[in-house]
Amino acid sequence: MARTVEDLEQELVSLREQLREFEHQSRQLDMVIQATGVGIWDWHIQTGATVFNERWANIIGYTLEEISPVSIETWMHFAHPEDLKESDRLLKAYWAGESDYYIFESRMKHKDGHWVWVYDAGQTVEWDEEGAPLRMVGTHLDITQQKEMELQLAEANKELAEMSYVDSLTGIPNRRAFDCKFCELVSATRRANSSLSLLIIDIDFFKQFNDLYGHQQGDEALRKVAQKIESALPRQTDFAARYGGEEIVVLLPYTPEDGAIAVAGKIISAVADLQIPHAFSDSRGCLSVSIGIANATSDFEDLFQLADQALYDAKHAGRNGFSVYSQG
Ligand code: GH3
Ligand code: MG
Ligand code: MG
Repeated sequence: MARTVEDLEQELVSLREQLREFEHQSRQLDMVIQATGVGIWDWHIQTGATVFNERWANIIGYTLEEISPVSIETWMHFAHPEDLKESDRLLKAYWAGESDYYIFESRMKHKDGHWVWVYDAGQTVEWDEEGAPLRMVGTHLDITQQKEMELQLAEANKELAEMSYVDSLTGIPNRRAFDCKFCELVSATRRANSSLSLLIIDIDFFKQFNDLYGHQQGDEALRKVAQKIESALPRQTDFAARYGGEEIVVLLPYTPEDGAIAVAGKIISAVADLQIPHAFSDSRGCLSVSIGIANATSDFEDLFQLADQALYDAKHAGRNGFSVYSQG
């Protein structure tokens, strides 16, 4: 049946309405793009032909004209080499149906030479008859500021965690760090069928030192002694911590009693080498330490108590020396 003029007029009105609606939506989309500052990419997967909007280029410091002609190679050129592999993996996972969207936080080289973080998100919009992806569209959002804040926050958290294991006065690990290390080394010693030695080191007549030279000098001496003990330990795996007051504990993994005795001797002479004057000391007028040693190969529960007992013996034997408590 032939169409009448009325039919055609009706059709024209409808098309005009559709066009107005389309223009309205297009303006809305433009406003959203302007307001959110997103870059847009439209990628024809099989050919590599890609369209970017102006903002996409602006994010990395260029005008679209400057980087034209563009293709998928343009993105590959500006993307961080390490991110290309990950992007490839994520795309394959998305196409395999493992995720609903392709989403990736990646780095792009800015015109000035620095890296810009972008939130890259996209979806496939066209497929061929076999179901292979033909076309993908997506956005780039500049998230550099957030990313930098995240990195700063992570760094601050790391520092805080480290600080909570370090004694603020002496700069060596604190009692909390010792508790962790002790558990760790007990397990390691058991696994290796080896032995673990523990030394408790206590400064001699330190109360008198404070009384005589003042608390500040006392703090300074304690700092020097702690540092000296830490640096006198022969092995990388040896560990020193300030347990409390003027007591330093040392853990010597895979070290039998004779080895622990040798280390104790080293510590005593290292502290003597500091030559910190102490008028009330028995040791030729210099600050000294006493050391209690305990060693265990199987029963580690009482190790600390036994070393403490040995320390008591060392004090009673005249200080500036060590005593050993042995356990089978
Ligand atoms: P001993 O030879 O028997 O160990 O005698 P001592 O005077 O050292 O006795 P003790 O170990 O019981 O006393 C510890 C003293 O160490 C108490 C306090 O005056 C001093 N001290 C503990 N912690 C600190 C500290 O952080 N700074 C300073 N300056 N002094 C401390
Ligand atoms: Mg003490
Ligand atoms: Mg003491």
